[in-house]
Amino acid sequence: MPDFKRREKTDEIIVHHTADTYGGMQYAKTRDYHVGTLGWLDIGYHYFIERSGTVLTGRPEWAEGAHAKGHNDRAIGVALAGDFTQEQITPAQDRALVALLAKLKGKYPAAAIKGHNDVNATACPGNIPMSKYRQITADAQKGAQGVTVGEGVVSIPIGEQVGQAAALVVIGVGFLMLIKAAGGVLPDMD
Ligand SMILES: [Zn+2]
Repeated sequence: MPDFKRREKTDEIIVHHTADTYGGMQYAKTRDYHVGTLGWLDIGYHYFIERSGTVLTGRPEWAEGAHAKGHNDRAIGVALAGDFTQEQITPAQDRALVALLAKLKGKYPAAAIKGHNDVNATACPGNIPMSKYRQITADAQKGAQGVTVGEGVVSIPIGEQVGQAAALVVIGVGFLMLIKAAGGVLPDMD
């Protein structure tokens, strides 16, 4: 594993977009740019959500990321594939982001959920509804709106999507877990 620096605290969760309209999977492309071109230790983010809703892990959660100047020593970075200054977040990404943020908020209750443009001068993450994500995850902490945060798990019942996959979550290398929208459980991501 690269020689990551350990982050001392986690009081922010910062959401990004890749600012890339490429329609395919973007994780490898983004990582290649961060490592190959910029010379970083790894992809700069801790989590990466493809258009399909697939969630991939980047840097270990305990490590400092490279995603928000002046905030990497206190923030977990979550990136969404896409350029949301000119396109919409996909429904699958939206569901995956809600699940991931609820999960992280359960683990780091004091962490504020922010868009990159809340902390740096940038258009990132475009026009996604950050206030909605803040509200949903705040409600999740209170067990409201059918979203509950339990012991290391998050379950999100969504009535009209019963039986459909909400997100495909990749934990580590080669380990796939299918998350169902109805009664689905997001596994612990340590
Ligand atoms: Zn950003």
